[in-house]
Amino acid sequence: MSKYIFVTGGVTSSLGKGIIAASLAKLLQARGLRVTIQKFDPYINVDPGTLNPYEHGECFVTEDGAETDLDLGHYERFLSIFTSQANNVTTGRIYQTVINKERAGDFLGKTVQVVPHITDEIKRRMLLLGENDQFDIILTEIGGTVGDIESLPFIEAVRQLQWELPEEDVMVVHLTLIPYLKAAKELKTKPTQHSVKMLSETGVHPDILVCRTEEPLNNDIKRKIALFCNVKQEAVIEAMDASTIYEVPLLMLREKLDIICLKKLQITKFNEPDLNKWIGFLDKLKYPRSKVTVGLIGKYIELQDAYKSILESFVHAGAVNEVKVEVVNVHSEFITRENVAEKLSHFDGLLVAPGFGHRGIEGKIIAVEYARTHGLPFFGICLGMQMAVIEFARNVLGLKDAHSTEMDPETIHSVINMMEEQKKISMMGGTMRLGSYPCAIKENTLAHTIYGDAVIHERHRHRYEFNNQYLAEFEKNGMIASGLNPESGLVEIMELPTHPFFIGVQYHPELKSTVEKPAPLFVSFIAAARKYNEQKGTGQRKSVTLS
Ligand code: GLN
Repeated sequence: MSKYIFVTGGVTSSLGKGIIAASLAKLLQARGLRVTIQKFDPYINVDPGTLNPYEHGECFVTEDGAETDLDLGHYERFLSIFTSQANNVTTGRIYQTVINKERAGDFLGKTVQVVPHITDEIKRRMLLLGENDQFDIILTEIGGTVGDIESLPFIEAVRQLQWELPEEDVMVVHLTLIPYLKAAKELKTKPTQHSVKMLSETGVHPDILVCRTEEPLNNDIKRKIALFCNVKQEAVIEAMDASTIYEVPLLMLREKLDIICLKKLQITKFNEPDLNKWIGFLDKLKYPRSKVTVGLIGKYIELQDAYKSILESFVHAGAVNEVKVEVVNVHSEFITRENVAEKLSHFDGLLVAPGFGHRGIEGKIIAVEYARTHGLPFFGICLGMQMAVIEFARNVLGLKDAHSTEMDPETIHSVINMMEEQKKISMMGGTMRLGSYPCAIKENTLAHTIYGDAVIHERHRHRYEFNNQYLAEFEKNGMIASGLNPESGLVEIMELPTHPFFIGVQYHPELKSTVEKPAPLFVSFIAAARKYNEQKGTGQRKSVTLS
């Protein structure tokens, strides 16, 4: 029988519910329990795949091709487990299922209502991952803030489960904020009291309060919160701001968050937490030997969450290389031939980011050209790889109008074009090439050195591909396809063997990078950036000019 921990949030959004949930799950996993996390999001979109990154940040893609909330990325990065379609449920998906059932006549003439029909479907999905005895504990993060109209049915479902399941099988962790008022020099508990009151009015009583705070909570404050909010004092957990999200599991361990949960769930069989690897990673992260600066060329740079997995992959790769990776965002829209050197010459490596649509495209192409002709380590992801292909076609093959049909449907030289099966699709949601696909890697290539494997599996999210009609010409001129899909022959990896480090991948390696298994491409890219940086000092930098 699985047990369930629900994580709700109060007072304000952005308190880091996902990180707290992932940290608690990490501790339980480190104690030998089988754990997973799922997220229930209150919006009407069936999944976040159709959302602009400015809305909710990056769309995280799972192995099975689900387009999900970025918190699932945190879950995977912390736990090194794969999540799936079942781990992210939205209000839209719940309603879609219920409405489809209603159309099929499954409700036998009954009036279909929020309670019980919507809440029944929510509960069914909340319990789904617990069905096959795969997990001891399932954590469920409820998106939004308590008091929001949208999340009420989710909270109501939690209330019902608290009644229906044995008391020792369900618990609720509520995350709140204890603001520090500088003028009064005091921590204030009132917002937390109100948020717990609001949660209690819906019939859900929290077992644990995790309190985000900038200042330590002394015993008096903890006693006061416990008294007013009706929880045990030991269940008032201090969550101080941390220097990195990866420190949060250790802060929670110190506060005994995991032990209090295990007690409430009456789990008696668990080990001392095995966090050796985690602590080893943190040590390297906190005490780097040197620094590299990487330019992230993108167009959603105003919002850090838009490139969440890429930024976290750099953190993992930096720790492996024992360097601090400073990522500087460069807006591709503002890169021109005239200013490119000024904007990019101080970097130790360039990553050209994924993306959609034509805004900022020419700037990305100019950035690729700069990296290619200056021996600057280059790493292109998805759209970034496509831009590397276009740049090479234009500047080396001399196909001046080479483009992707995404940006220029009329181009004569469509070096990037849409897959045949994509052309028949008219619906937007969930219709890209999504999820994990195999890639066969050629020997004696950079890709082979990086992965050390003949076949790898990486995740995808795109509609356009390298146009294989041009492959022979590319390879004849020095840009080779070092990774191909073994069944379809679609190009997965392009590289320039004469360049110190120049690689573009059609897939998204950032989606599989975790603390314990950093993505090999990021690790090698940072190693190349470090080398480039070291050579800068000695004046031995190798510069190549291909065109
Ligand atoms: N827009 C490009 C495509 O659909 C690239 C997508 C991406 O970078 N994820 O193929």
